[in-house]
Parts: sequence; structure tokens; C-alpha cells
Amino acid sequence: MRCILLLLDGLGDRSHSILGGKTPLQAAHTPNLNQITALGMTGLFHPHLQGTALPSELAHFLMFGYRMEEFPGRGAVEALGEGLDIRPGDVALLARIFSVAQEPEGLVLRHENPALERQDCRLLQEAVRSFTRHGIEGEFLPTQGIGGILRLRGEVSNFVSDSNPITEGRPLLEVLPLRAQTDDLRTQYTAQFLNDYLRWCYRTLSQHPLNGQRRQQGLPAINAVGTQRAGMLGALPSFTDKWGLKGLMIAAGALYQGIGQVVGMATRRVKDTDDPSGDLRQRLEMAYQATDYDFIHVHTKVADEAGHSGDPLRKQRAIEAIDSALGYAIDSMVANDDILFIVTADHSTAASGTMIHTGETVPLVMTGKYIRRDAVETFDEISCAAGGLSLVRGQELMYLILNFLDRGKLWGLMDSADDQPFTPGTSTPLRLD
Ligand SMILES: [Zn+2]
Repeated sequence: MRCILLLLDGLGDRSHSILGGKTPLQAAHTPNLNQITALGMTGLFHPHLQGTALPSELAHFLMFGYRMEEFPGRGAVEALGEGLDIRPGDVALLARIFSVAQEPEGLVLRHENPALERQDCRLLQEAVRSFTRHGIEGEFLPTQGIGGILRLRGEVSNFVSDSNPITEGRPLLEVLPLRAQTDDLRTQYTAQFLNDYLRWCYRTLSQHPLNGQRRQQGLPAINAVGTQRAGMLGALPSFTDKWGLKGLMIAAGALYQGIGQVVGMATRRVKDTDDPSGDLRQRLEMAYQATDYDFIHVHTKVADEAGHSGDPLRKQRAIEAIDSALGYAIDSMVANDDILFIVTADHSTAASGTMIHTGETVPLVMTGKYIRRDAVETFDEISCAAGGLSLVRGQELMYLILNFLDRGKLWGLMDSADDQPFTPGTSTPLRLD
């Protein structure tokens, strides 16, 4: 028996007056999601604590049963997913070039996400590519558009604060050692390095000929670098060692490839096209055919992206597109006693307010041979609260999956040297000689 988990990124939302007080999921016509729900057990899910707004990569990491303090940081996850040369001991920060204005309070962020031709991006990023100081080598490695990874190599620490204020109108921030590491020399040098680098970037980019041309055209100069979410790869138990399940991640974005690699899952990278329903159907078919794996994570980002647009109607339509791909899942997976099929999300992405993600719970449904059926027949953030699973948190999800795969161990039994939660363990037969 294997588990296929369909992750509808950013599915949860808030009530909207334009939808008559409903969430986009409540307002959407979702006959397939509802049919799955009628056949399964439902609940609400939050990867951490209700109310906390999590980024996707951390939400996924917690869903896979890892602890918050084990998280290597988004910079490291993304660098891995982008296939960059990132080694244990390197620090990787998300970095981007953008536009600031020198004002009395500092270098005030004017355009955090400026439109820029690819060629111009590369020219400016190349100008700030390499910087060495305090024995630390910094390199700006471009990824998508204005973004990249700033990789630090040497005696470095990832316990530093962000410089990118994200919100336009706020000044670029001084990088500080995190409070608990204030006295750590390695962390102090890393913070100093980053502040020196950011000052050098501002001076270098301000004088760049391309910015001279932009000023002449009345365009804002792209004259600064902002960094955030420093990370460092560490030693982690693999998903298979932890849960006894061979894992596969099917997703489009580099970030998800990265999180799959961090936990030692196999990854398959697929593409997002302008047909989200067709994309999802293709991923579900791929998952169904991947019979070598015990746990298959199928990811789609369309609900999250629609939530970020701030348009509840767009999100409603995105959810309806998702639903239209699920007839295939009903026929091939829900009807199959050898598959535990799960639908949920990593977090809410509200199409209202100013938060990037929001901290509300998301709905969860599980169907399979060993699942109780509850009375809930509608898949949404409110109806599923009446379900048989009640509130499931990130640390519980993998235990539930082992249980419904009929592979959970009776606690206290020791069929291997590790107290693993699954059975059978990596047992060693007794030899007679
Ligand atoms: Zn997400």
C-alpha cells in the first residue's frame, strides 16, 4: 500500500464580501473534491501552530515530520533546488537586485521587484558577483530574473538577520548577528561581511553605466542588493530512514525540488503551463504510475499564486481548474484499496490583507482502505472542521499516514537499534554460528 498526497499550495483563505462572505474554496464549484470528501475522513491541518504564517518550504518540512530547529533555511533549500554548488558549511542567502533611494533615514527601498530585461539583470548581477573580505568569499549566483543566491564560503555562520526590508518605503536593514549568537565571532564576521558587501554593491551599482542610461530615460536605478533567510545545509536523517517510506516529490518550482532533496526524496521536475488542470492531471498520472515509491507528494502552486494576486474570484477559478483534474484521481486512486489518497494544503494564502501567507488552518481529507468515513461531504475550511480527524498538526501527519498505511509500530517494540515509528524495522536475523 502506498500514499499519494495531493498538496494544493496556499489553498486556504479568508471570507470575502465579494463572495458573499465565503472563502474562494467555499464559493468554488468542486464536485470532485466533494466526492472525495464524502468517501473519506476529514479535518483541518496546520503544519505548526494555528495563526502562524509559514512559507511553503518550512510548511513542507514540518509536514514531513521534521522539527523547526532542523530546518536548513530557505536560502540553502533554494540553492539546492536550483542545482547550485552549495556544500555543507556554506551559507546561502536569498538575494535580489532592486532599487533604493538615498534618504536621511537610509537607503529606502523603492522598487522591490523591478521589471528588468534578462540581459540587463545579468549585467548588473555580474557587477556584484564576487566580493572577499575577512577571509570570507561571497558570490552572487543568479537564478530567476532579478533573484539569486548569495553564497558565502569560509568561516561563516547562518545566524544573521535579513537586509531586505521587503516593504517598499522602508530602509535597507543592517545585518545583525541573531540575538543568541551576538557574542559568536564567526557570526559577527559574517554580519560585518554582509554589511560591507551591501555597501559595496550600492556604490558599484550606482556607478554602473546601465544605471546612467536608466536615469537618462527617467527610470529608477537598480542600485542595491537585498538579502534574506540565510541557510546552511546540515546532516538530517532521510525521509526513508525516518518513516520507512521511499519518497517522491513531483513539483514544478526549484524550491520544491530543493525541499525534496533536503529530506532525501527522489524528485521529478514538471512544468507549469497555462493549463493548470492538464498540468495536475499529468502529475497525478505520473504519481499513479510511480509504483516504486511508498509516499508520493504531488504539488500544484496555482491556488497560492491566485491568492497572491489579491483577487478572490481568480482564486475561485483556480480551485475550479484544480477540481476538474480530480476525476482521474477518483477513478484511479480513491477507488483503489492499495492507495491512501490525501488532499490538503501547506498553508493559507489569503486574497485579502497585507500578509504574504496567513495563519489559518487548511482542510484535509484522507481516503483509503483503513480510513473511517465521517459525515462531512464538502471540502472546505469550515465543513472539514466537523470531520473525524479534527485538527491535525505537522508533527502528527506522518504518524497518521503510517497508521493508515497499516505500517505503524506499536510503541516500545524494538526490532532495530533505532526506535523508528514504522514496522518492519531494519531488523537483523540471529545467526547460529
Ligand atoms: Zn505554499
